[in-house]
Amino acid sequence: MKSVVIDKRLDKVNEECGVFGIYRNDDIDIVSVTHDGLYGLQHRGQESVGITVIKDEEPYTLKDLGIVSTVLTEKALKKLPQGEMAVGHVRYTSTSYLDRAATQPLVMRYICGSLAIANNGAITNFAEIRNELEHGGAIFQSNSHAEIIGYMIATRRIECDTIEQAILKTMEVLKGAYSIVIGAPKKLIGVRDPHGFKPLCIGKLNNSYVLASESCAIDSIGGEFIRDVEPGEVVVIDDKGFHSYHSDKKKTSSLCLFEYVYFARPDSVVDGVNVNIARRRAGKLLYEENPVEADIVCGVPDSGLDAAQGYAEASGITYATAFIKNKYIGRTADAGGNDKKKKLLKMRLNVLKNIVEGKRIVIIDDSIVRGNTSAHIVKLLRDAGAKEIHMRISSPEFVYPCYFGIDLPSPENMISNRFSVDELRNEIGADSLSFLSIKGLHSIAEGCNIGLCDGCFSGHYNADVPKIIYEDKFAVKIKKV
Ligand code: SF4
Repeated sequence: MKSVVIDKRLDKVNEECGVFGIYRNDDIDIVSVTHDGLYGLQHRGQESVGITVIKDEEPYTLKDLGIVSTVLTEKALKKLPQGEMAVGHVRYTSTSYLDRAATQPLVMRYICGSLAIANNGAITNFAEIRNELEHGGAIFQSNSHAEIIGYMIATRRIECDTIEQAILKTMEVLKGAYSIVIGAPKKLIGVRDPHGFKPLCIGKLNNSYVLASESCAIDSIGGEFIRDVEPGEVVVIDDKGFHSYHSDKKKTSSLCLFEYVYFARPDSVVDGVNVNIARRRAGKLLYEENPVEADIVCGVPDSGLDAAQGYAEASGITYATAFIKNKYIGRTADAGGNDKKKKLLKMRLNVLKNIVEGKRIVIIDDSIVRGNTSAHIVKLLRDAGAKEIHMRISSPEFVYPCYFGIDLPSPENMISNRFSVDELRNEIGADSLSFLSIKGLHSIAEGCNIGLCDGCFSGHYNADVPKIIYEDKFAVKIKKV
């Protein structure tokens, strides 16, 4: 198994995956629909992508490291048959290994047939479950959380009448974050953890049901959004239609607030809130919490742009484009030391000198993690002749870890744990700096149907955090490039 060591840490927070599924009730090309749905979810993961089609209960899979356009080519897609359902996945991993064995959908064969699993999330009791299963003789091919979920469902299925009962039993043991699509193989199943950390929604394309991480994927296939899967809900789609079950495990719901700030696409609606509106609210609140006199308001592409518009609308200050982003420099080019990273940052963003020269600028970004990107942005603006640079961040300061599948650095590597806001302002070279308050962050999600997680900002988690961390022996063994 060949694996590639990568360095992904370009000072951004990274999501861990997008999932998609379709159950065919029309004469439609489900391979191409799943391809289009995954294109709509590409922002949620760019390290691997895959589709499993289930035809006559047999799974056919196409998956590899890479993005939709490089892996799911027209030629490659022709090898997949048209079946009764398809499951799709785009992946980002928080490990520093690109592990082919962990690419999804993960297909497992067991006594009742096959399971094709696509998961977004992180199981917080993964270490306990995996250790217990390994000591019971279980063999795993990867360090993927999807694999232990599949194993648990398969073992429980033997003592249950239906797959949905086996899933509900598995949910009694699983802790943490998971939004899963399963091809089972006569049923397409969507599962959202009882906290609802990750989004998952249901749509329809003509008479065919669709499951997707975000509503933008349903839009991208020309489908119709129906509703979000509720926290703790299991939705089952089969030849008899649509069924819903709920886990007995009632938990405080806890959707990741950073979905609204950064992860989700602005054209998605997540748990009742339009992401573009949420980001504009963040900009408005940033102005109300920390107003400043300036000539123009600009956003750092892409997720700072909506908040910058909101700031401009609230303040009456002119909105302007200060940066042009090179969209063709992908994350696969992230390898290398600090010099290479700086070079990449420079190539990714170029400043429009004619816009910023001699101006007092409010510049809005979604977050500061390690601080190097912010320092670079301020320097770009300063070098282009900006008179004053006032940085506003549309989220609070990151100071605590995330245990639920978001790739944050350890707290000692978060710059806000090393500097006060004023020291950080000085460090990045801005004239002023402020962050959205935690109260403001909750306000941007006004209208959300479920509870919210702000753990990495507040240190308060609505769910159990891991007691032990799994020692990833597998990754150590494959560290060779
Ligand atoms: S801890 Fe932070 S990043 Fe993690 S789920 Fe909660 S809000 Fe999202």
